[in-house]
Amino acid sequence: MSQSLATVAYLGAAILFILSLGGLSNPETSRRGNLFGMLGMALAILATVFGPRVTADGFAWIVAALVVGGGIGLYAAKTVKMTQMPELVALMHSLVGLAACLVGFASYVDTSIQLEGAEKAIHEMEIYIGILIGAVTFSGSLIAFGKLNGKIGGKPLLLPARHWLNLAALLIVIYFGYAFMQAPTVQAGMPALVIMTVIALLFGVHMVMAIGGADMPVVVSMLNSYSGWAAAATGFMLGNDLLIITGALVGSSGAILSYIMCQAMNRNFISVIAGGFGSGAPKKKAADGAAAEPQGEVVPVTSAETAELLRDAKRVIIVPGYGMAVAQAQHTVYEITKTLREKGVQVEFAIHPVAGRMPGHMNVLLAEAKVPYDIVMEMDEINADFPQADVAMVIGANDIVNPSALDDPDSPIAGMPVLEVWKAKHSIVMKRSMASGYAGVDNPLFYKENNRMLFGDAKKMLDEVLTALRA
Ligand code: NDP
Repeated sequence: MSQSLATVAYLGAAILFILSLGGLSNPETSRRGNLFGMLGMALAILATVFGPRVTADGFAWIVAALVVGGGIGLYAAKTVKMTQMPELVALMHSLVGLAACLVGFASYVDTSIQLEGAEKAIHEMEIYIGILIGAVTFSGSLIAFGKLNGKIGGKPLLLPARHWLNLAALLIVIYFGYAFMQAPTVQAGMPALVIMTVIALLFGVHMVMAIGGADMPVVVSMLNSYSGWAAAATGFMLGNDLLIITGALVGSSGAILSYIMCQAMNRNFISVIAGGFGSGAPKKKAADGAAAEPQGEVVPVTSAETAELLRDAKRVIIVPGYGMAVAQAQHTVYEITKTLREKGVQVEFAIHPVAGRMPGHMNVLLAEAKVPYDIVMEMDEINADFPQADVAMVIGANDIVNPSALDDPDSPIAGMPVLEVWKAKHSIVMKRSMASGYAGVDNPLFYKENNRMLFGDAKKMLDEVLTALRA
């Protein structure tokens, strides 16, 4: 393939990626968006593999790598459960970071690249910054992977003087960056590059370890953004325009998502990155000095009683959370929705921006179950409507309906907007036990007078509710 044909193919792929992002911004066009993305990626791979820069010797290596990488990807796509998706995505981000580091070191020691003066300085700066972003992305994403699959606890690690440690790391990185750029030979520059890489790896670990459970969504989207910038840096090092464009698209859309997540959680981006939120500060003491416990009684209900409440309602708002994903209850939820709507009940869904374990998690599950988009509402669209609802049915959600975020200034999730389900005439929370959610915070909703608890696996309980509704 000639250089000009490869350039045209790259341009086509870049346009397809932009169309893909546009499509993914709306559930109704997201399938088309996905298709554009797949076509763009296929075009990009073909133009690279058959492009002018791949030699006959290199071809065999690339095919071997494609077979191994493609095989692993196919296996993961077939075996990974929907609930493991967030941690898989974090793992993928770490690979992008690792690739940036490896490409950086490879281009530094590549003797075929002979540059002088400003060109050499720019190339070395690309290497230094590329490895820096790559290493932070790699180690940060591995820790995020551990936190998302529960192998690493959700509590933030609060090292003494952690802000000073971060500042010291930054100054050391700048110092060694200067030393690296001044080094006359590869041998002389290598120690500075290695030291910076180690510091960047430690910084990535520290940054994500310092973030509290409920703030993880911001970190996930931020690492997504970093992986984009790492890919763009790789593009600069390799002189590959498409990689630069693609990386910049991922980097900037991840940054916008992080901003949206911060807004949704009423957090300041810099404070989240600095870490320490969700540290489980001591609870307010009651008058006698004892820690304040949620007040009231927990009232369990049966699935038959739940069906009764739903049947008598005029308006029902359903709040799905992570437990719905675990139980894979979305299809039954839709069947219940259909049955209630046939009986003339108005049913809507309220989606919290951080429900589940990845951005858009609930929207994807509801779309999979074919719930109509026009009854799926964002938090801002529906939160004020709970007082008009007869029943708010919470399915496997916990942190996103926790009133202490609004009432208790000492709560680790204080200030985060939540779905105000307790304002409905009745709220029903469906979960297996009294256990806390991802942020590890007690939920006073369970003790409210108008709240009922339907204990059990969400799928099993909803199947029973559906049977009772149809009886
Ligand atoms: P939570 O993690 O707060 O609560 C989920 C609840 O589901 C648990 O309390 C659990 O209770 C229940 N549950 C689990 N399995 C089942 C089951 N099979 N049947 C019924 N219930 C079940 O989830 P939310 O969606 O309310 O909140 C999301 C949390 O995750 C927030 O803290 C958010 O910050 C965090 N997060 C979100 C990310 C995102 O991008 N959306 C990314 C990373 C973190 P029990 O064990 O008693 O059944």
